[in-house]
Order: sequence, then structure tokens, then C-alpha cells
Amino acid sequence: MVIIMKVGASEAELAAVLRAVESSGFRPFINPGVERKVVAVLGEVDIDKVELVDQFGNMAGVERVQLISEPFKLSSKTYHPGPFEVNVGRVAIGGPEVVVIAGPCSVETEDQVLATARAVKEQGARLLRGGAFKPRTSPRSFQGLGERGLKLLAMAREATGLPVVTEVMDGHDLDVGCRYADMPQIGARNMQNFALLRWVGQTEQPVLLKRGPGSRVRDLLMAAEYILAEGNSQVVLCERGITTFEDAARYTTDINAVPILKGLTHLPVILDPSHATGNWAWVKPIALAGIAAGADGLIVEVHPDPQHARSDGKQSLKPDKFADLMRGVSRVARAVDREFSPVSVANG
Ligand code: PEP
Ligand code: MN
Repeated sequence: MVIIMKVGASEAELAAVLRAVESSGFRPFINPGVERKVVAVLGEVDIDKVELVDQFGNMAGVERVQLISEPFKLSSKTYHPGPFEVNVGRVAIGGPEVVVIAGPCSVETEDQVLATARAVKEQGARLLRGGAFKPRTSPRSFQGLGERGLKLLAMAREATGLPVVTEVMDGHDLDVGCRYADMPQIGARNMQNFALLRWVGQTEQPVLLKRGPGSRVRDLLMAAEYILAEGNSQVVLCERGITTFEDAARYTTDINAVPILKGLTHLPVILDPSHATGNWAWVKPIALAGIAAGADGLIVEVHPDPQHARSDGKQSLKPDKFADLMRGVSRVARAVDREFSPVSVANG
């Protein structure tokens, strides 16, 4: 249930509403809103909801009370009508601009991460990605450089000014990661690691939350709900391909999820065409489809020498292919009335 306050409702009216919510045994969450305040009423409802709707609806300063039938409340658009952006450094995700995050799957060497960071920045990427803690199917595969990798990412940020996105898999990674990076990423395999979701929810870092390959859209929203319920509102969702019977590609891009999520939640939605396809040759067309479908941005793997990458080389773009992708993004973004920062602005 959400209580939508009138435009210009007073602080005293809002305080009275919050008291009433608490004394009914619920937890109020306030969305300060640009125009009007909205109060989400959270908790198990075991008394007659209709009674509560009347009780709260008749209070001074309340415009209306709306029941939200879905289990996701704080991530629902009803709770947060109007524009919403997640800020990573000076980069806003979810606004008019299509934001591209790019970089290697894994941080490998200083030269590799610096060369990639410089190349993607030159083409208009706004954030740098790179994994230092890698979730690998086999324990014998490269597990990432750990803190040394984070130091290299921080060095690349120093050199380029690009804020850094990096995956964390547990509380330790999160502690160390937050010292060096700007945006922790919860990877697909950890989408329902509820302890981890709570931990990132207790930080003030913007979070990139990827959809699990076997998870439904509503499961992704409930995972976001865990982060929001801890008080961190800065969550970006990412569609990165799901498992289906089709095995011609690594995963199947659920392009439907983009407009579906945009309709259900105020949280920004981006697409990862690299993991979704698993093959560099399909990255551009699927990335452009994502932008056309309304994604707020992309996260793309780029490597100067994909053949020798220590992870995900097959799906990584060389810098010249990334440049070609960015030309396409610029055209498609304009066609769907989005902004895309031209190279000259990104370099400024
Ligand atoms: C990654 O971003 O390198 C990654 C492992 O992604 P996902 O969690 O989507 O598989
Ligand atoms: Mn990868």
C-alpha cells in the first residue's frame, strides 16, 4: 500500500501519517519526491486492508491511498512516480542520456586495464567495468586478481576520470571493493544472495544488480527490494540473458524484460549484450535492440587482445569494434529520443 500525499501537504500532516502507519504495526518508507511525498506502508497485512485504506485516506494532507498488488513495493513505480536517476560520480543513469559502461571482463594487467579504459573513454563510455573477484564455473579457472585488480582499476580511474563498476561476491569483497570502486555489481549468480543484497543495501554506494539467468523479472525486482529495504535507493537493474532451451548462444537475451521492467519500476534498466550473447559478433545488434527497447544504458566487455583474455574473450569487443558499436548507439539513441554524449563531451 502507498499513501500519496497532496502537493503542499505540511510536515505535520506527513508526521501524523507516519505515526498512524507505525501504530498500525507497519514500517513507513518515505519517497521525498520532486512534486509530492509518497509513503510506502510495508509489513505483513493480516487485518482488513480496506479498513486501512479508509483510515489513512481520510487523514489531513493525504490525496489518496493505493494498494499495490505486486510483492515489490519500494521498487514499484507507484511508490516512485516521476523521474529517477542513479548517480555514479557525476554520471546519471536513468536520465535522458544513454550511459555506456565498458571494460574488460577481468582485470589482468596494468597495461590491459589502462589501454582499455583509455580506448573506451575516447569512444564515449561513461563508466569503466572490470572484474577483480570473478565468479567462475570451475574453481580451476582464473579467479581474478582480488585487491591488486581493484588497485589497477583505481589507477585507471585516476588516469581517465571514469568511475569504476566491479563485481563483489561476499562481505569481504564488498568492504575492499568499496574502498576502490564507485559501484559494486551483484552478479547474476548472486542475485538471490540475500545476505549480500542486505550488505550492499547498508552502504551508500550505487549498486548494479544483474538478473540471474534462471530468475523471473519479478524475482529481480524482489532482489532489488532487499537492497531498497535497507535504505539504499541507488539501484540499477541489468538484463544479461536468461537460460532457455536455445543453445545457439550462451544465453537468450530477454529483450521483453527491458520495456516490462521500465513499466513496473522507476529503477534504471541497462542491458549486457556481452554475457547475453556470449559472442562478440552478436554484441552490436543486441545492444542496439536494447537501446531501441528503452534501456537506459549498456554494459559491454572490451579487451585489447580478446584472444588472450583470461575470461570471456569470445564475447569481448576489440576497441575498434567498440568504436563501431558506439556509432550505432549514437544513431539509435537519437532515433528513440534519447541523448548520447558525443565523444568530445565525454572527453571534456
Ligand atoms: C561479468 O560481468 O563479468 C559477469 C560475470 O556477469 P554475470 O554475473 O552477468 O554473468
Ligand atoms: Mn564476463
